[in-house]
Amino acid sequence: MANAETARVAEIGVIGGSGFYSLLEDVTEVRVDTPYGPPSDSLFLGEIAGRRVAFLPRHGRGHHLPPHRINYRANLWALRSVGVRQVLGPCAVGGLRPEYGPGTLLVPDQLVDRTKARVTTYFDGLPLPDGTVPNVVHVSLADPYCPVGRAAALKAARGRDWEPVDGGTLVVVEGPRFSTRAESLWHQAQGWSVVGMTGHPEAALARELELCYTSLTLVTDLDAGAETGEGVSHDEVLRVFAANVDRLRGVLFDAVAALPADEDRDCLCTKALGGMDPGFELP
Ligand SMILES: [Zn+2]
Repeated sequence: MANAETARVAEIGVIGGSGFYSLLEDVTEVRVDTPYGPPSDSLFLGEIAGRRVAFLPRHGRGHHLPPHRINYRANLWALRSVGVRQVLGPCAVGGLRPEYGPGTLLVPDQLVDRTKARVTTYFDGLPLPDGTVPNVVHVSLADPYCPVGRAAALKAARGRDWEPVDGGTLVVVEGPRFSTRAESLWHQAQGWSVVGMTGHPEAALARELELCYTSLTLVTDLDAGAETGEGVSHDEVLRVFAANVDRLRGVLFDAVAALPADEDRDCLCTKALGGMDPGFELP
């Protein structure tokens, strides 16, 4: 679908599993291509509380893309190209503290990148397919998450009697394997809170496109160093996620409803480029 046809068909994006839109009525599937290739899947357009939302299955439908193979640049670009300016990014994580057990909802305010082999920027100096070359631009990621989006997520959780952890550091590892016990103990010793595989470069890319991005992390297990058993298993992660997907969906829907209208956005995210010329046209 060409940009002209898709322009402004959504205002809020949710990057997460199919469990988040499968119960919506009147979901429209649209395919979007980007200069970076196709996103993880089609966008699924629906409406929540009068807000137009684009859902993107981060791992593709059927969950075929491992975290390190996700085309993060295409995902954020595709969302922006259909009009999205605010993004909610729920993801499953491991808890790095005993008190952050399975079922904990933590809305992080900081991020540590321990990925190794991902393209993490639009400003990599390489020409786009149309020949335009991005300028050298350095955005601030000192505060990686949208303060307005975080507040909406926290309020939404409390409104559903799910007391969230307000703030904490999400460390993102390359995966797809889970951490060794030594790595996990090191992450804990740094004072970090939860560990995941998809939170980076999503937040950084969103910032480069002047999108608001909010991470909602659902703890599905205690990471290897925080427990005394056998370590994380994929089955356990899936089981806990499934047990919590309904209430997480409720929180996301309430957060969507609470996000400001585009024209009322006044957070740091909207000024990320500070008037700098990216060298290409933002979608
Ligand atoms: Zn923002």
